[in-house]
Amino acid sequence: MQVVTRFAPSPTGSLHVGGARTALFCWLFARHYEGKFLLRVEDTDRTRSTPESIKTIMDGMTWLDLDWDNKDYGGRNYYSQYEQRGRHAEVAKAMIANGTAYYCYATPEELEAMRAEQKAKGLPQRYDCRWRDRPVSEAPKGVSPCIRLKAPQEGETVIEDAVMGKITVQNSQLDDMVLVRADGTPTYMLAVVVDDHDMGVTHVIRGDDHMTNTFRQVQIYKAMGWDIPTFAHLPMILGPDGAKLSKRHGAPAVSDYRERGYLPEAVCNYLLRLCWSHGDDEIIPREKAIEWFDLSGVGKSPARFDFVKLNSVNAHYMKEKPDAELAKLAAPFVSAKIGRELTDAEVELLAKAMPDLKPRAQTLVEIAEMSAFYFHSGAFVLDDKAKKILTPEAMKNLKELAAKMESLAPFTGEAAEDLFRKYAEEKGLKLGAVAQPLRVALSGSTVSPPIFHVAGLLGKEETLRRISAVG
Ligand code: GLU
Repeated sequence: MQVVTRFAPSPTGSLHVGGARTALFCWLFARHYEGKFLLRVEDTDRTRSTPESIKTIMDGMTWLDLDWDNKDYGGRNYYSQYEQRGRHAEVAKAMIANGTAYYCYATPEELEAMRAEQKAKGLPQRYDCRWRDRPVSEAPKGVSPCIRLKAPQEGETVIEDAVMGKITVQNSQLDDMVLVRADGTPTYMLAVVVDDHDMGVTHVIRGDDHMTNTFRQVQIYKAMGWDIPTFAHLPMILGPDGAKLSKRHGAPAVSDYRERGYLPEAVCNYLLRLCWSHGDDEIIPREKAIEWFDLSGVGKSPARFDFVKLNSVNAHYMKEKPDAELAKLAAPFVSAKIGRELTDAEVELLAKAMPDLKPRAQTLVEIAEMSAFYFHSGAFVLDDKAKKILTPEAMKNLKELAAKMESLAPFTGEAAEDLFRKYAEEKGLKLGAVAQPLRVALSGSTVSPPIFHVAGLLGKEETLRRISAVG
């Protein structure tokens, strides 16, 4: 049997962390078993579904490198639930024909009165099956019927969930749900089952907020005599405070992580560890994740989102990345910081600076903050701390050193450092007394990457220009 999983987002907003984790687990499961991973957009809610949201979701998946295998629908690169509405209605008709569904002519007013009466009597409010066994010949004129499932009223429905284990519900708890509304539109419950069946989905992996829907969906599979897929419900993701992860915890959308300078492989690695584990392994690169991922590794308890851990995972992946690649990724963040595009030569300089930047940064945004000074032109605006370093004596030394640097050939960071060391020694000064003013002149700040490395990267001309710019 070929494994087929699907990710089925409703396009009513951005791709959130929970959705991304579901997509990742579905993708990994499919890749592990060399099966298929399909994307189905659940766009039946026409008022809330938007093309922008579909694009955002697909962009997020592409950024996370979660490629889907069904991309050809004649101009559309995803399966659209809405486009299948005719097929959903057809299945509902087939259920009427095989006696597992029926037309219900109860009007909204009637149902309202029924619920009010149940409420008054303290009974659970649910459809009382008034049309379940009534012949259509009794149908009132002018009322469009809905179609309801003739749900089993006795016995129980059992799900063997691959994560949650065996879960049982008494059929007496489930009423005859609507499959097709009076206006002819299929309900979500019917659409999901028909689509999963038609797409050949073998494993439905999704958030555990869908658990209660699953009982109802299983009844539809049974009514149609279709194979029931394996269900795997993933535990929730909580915020650091233990409440359900939401916007107020900061950055719940995948695009937010991208904008905050996280690498997609780090985000995937971090998401993978939310409710799934492989021993004590924390850093799990993609190939290992594909090799190791299985539903048996998914735990039953919710996971807490931990920004500190995400940062350390991101720092790890940044350190591992070749400098030139990381510089290309950081370049847009630097550009945003300095308000202009970097030239190719500047991106090369950034790559050369990387060994000094990446051990100290956790995100690309931090790299941009630490490296913006390399690309500064004109004079720096100095803060008080920096100004204090540039005493008249410090400036005098710096000018003398600048004159000596003028004749350094070749001009390298090591050669400059040598020169500063000798000078300090001769004058009986500590290296810091001459290096710190150089730092302020070259970086505009009292903290920077190793300053002689900076001088080497900036080159003689720019080093001297910056020194003369401070005084
Ligand atoms: N469209 C549903 C959602 O976004 C998912 C449905 C499913 O996975 O079965 O929550």
